[in-house]
Amino acid sequence: MKNTFHIVGGGIAGLTAAIALRRIGIEAMVWEAAPEFKPVGAGITLASNAMNAYRKLGLYDALTEAGRPVGDAHILDFRGRKLAGLPARSTEDGLCNLAIHRAALHAVLLAQLNPEQVKTGKRSTGYAETVDGYTLYFEDGTQAVGNHLIVAEGIHSPLRKQALPAARIRYAGYTCWRGIADNSRLKIEDTSETWGPQGRFGIVPIGNGQIYWFATKNSPENNPGMKAWGPQELLANFRNYHAPVAKVIEATLPDNILWNDIIDLAPIPRFAFGNLVLIGDAAHATTPNMGQGACQAIEDAVVLAQSLENYPVAREAFSVFESRRLKRTHGIVNQSWRLGRIAQWENPVLCRARNALFRMIPESVFQKQQEQVYTVDF
Ligand SMILES: Cc1cc2nc3c(=O)[nH]c(=O)nc-3n(C[C@H](O)[C@H](O)[C@H](O)COP(=O)(O)OP(=O)(O)OC[C@H]3O[C@@H](n4cnc5c(N)ncnc54)[C@H](O)[C@@H]3O)c2cc1C
Repeated sequence: MKNTFHIVGGGIAGLTAAIALRRIGIEAMVWEAAPEFKPVGAGITLASNAMNAYRKLGLYDALTEAGRPVGDAHILDFRGRKLAGLPARSTEDGLCNLAIHRAALHAVLLAQLNPEQVKTGKRSTGYAETVDGYTLYFEDGTQAVGNHLIVAEGIHSPLRKQALPAARIRYAGYTCWRGIADNSRLKIEDTSETWGPQGRFGIVPIGNGQIYWFATKNSPENNPGMKAWGPQELLANFRNYHAPVAKVIEATLPDNILWNDIIDLAPIPRFAFGNLVLIGDAAHATTPNMGQGACQAIEDAVVLAQSLENYPVAREAFSVFESRRLKRTHGIVNQSWRLGRIAQWENPVLCRARNALFRMIPESVFQKQQEQVYTVDF
């Protein structure tokens, strides 16, 4: 058997890892559960730390062409008054924050890989250790054997559950809708996130005449009432919010709205298990409050490839990867959890106090915090 690598999961983490490994001469197989790669109906922001990683992988230009650099961004109260501002990232180092449709991101990533190395319709169910690696089992009854397993199956990863049964998924207390709206008439340029007693509403122009938006609201977990919400219910909920919130919802087709509860993975003590390593959401899924989940998955891919380049014995490389990634990703998971708690306050008195405090904090403080997140050790 050759020195084979299997990547399980063809999301942002799995595909980016396959690209990073390819660049150092490792052709990994990618096994993806979905029967095909379908355009997924939401946008995403890739902060400059992720864009830095993609620049290392030679994808910066292709991505900036497919998306739209994020300009100045603001946190607003429900009347539209500014609570905090995050100026567009300085382009001194040539790195922007990018807003992009997830389908466009996937297309750029897939184009970097040999179609033969990506297999769809392959849902893993478990693995068994062999003398020199693993047998990987799939739901369709087939198997794959290899030496090294890179687990990139997302937060519900069955392989992580096998390696670390004690890992715990947490519900954050709020639920979320995401949509793509037509921006051809609205022509909205600004990125904003509005905090108010009825929840949060974010607006992100992603280029190509489209806006990505998200809305969050406190709710019991897995609430069928919330799942059933469409544009009408969202309009009613956010009716007191400033313009153009209502117009953005009105410019959205019901089929372009996704719903899910906000969950994360309570920080786990290990990512490396001998010749198996966890990356992306399988390792450190975070709430989306800092927009860093995918960014961290992308950083993982670059650090993993660097570790494999420097330590040819994979189990050593995986252990080095773990030591470089645990602290940073845990910090982001914890910070994002706390931020979400504060941003979701509903009590009007608490909201007013929070808003007054935010207005007093100099912009430079927010900027400094952002720069810490954007600074990566590679
Ligand atoms: C509302 C919301 C907004 C967000 N916004 C942002 C943002 O703006 N910026 C940002 O950086 N992050 C954001 N994130 C986080 C981001 O979406 C995730 O961190 C990112 O998608 C993680 O990528 P992944 O590849 O690790 O996992 P996933 O995206 O979950 O991909 C896992 C892949 O594995 C496949 N899979 C699952 N099970 C199996 C199996 N058993 N066998 C084989 N394949 C399997 C899945 O089909 C999928 O393709 C947001 C998340 C949410 C919920």
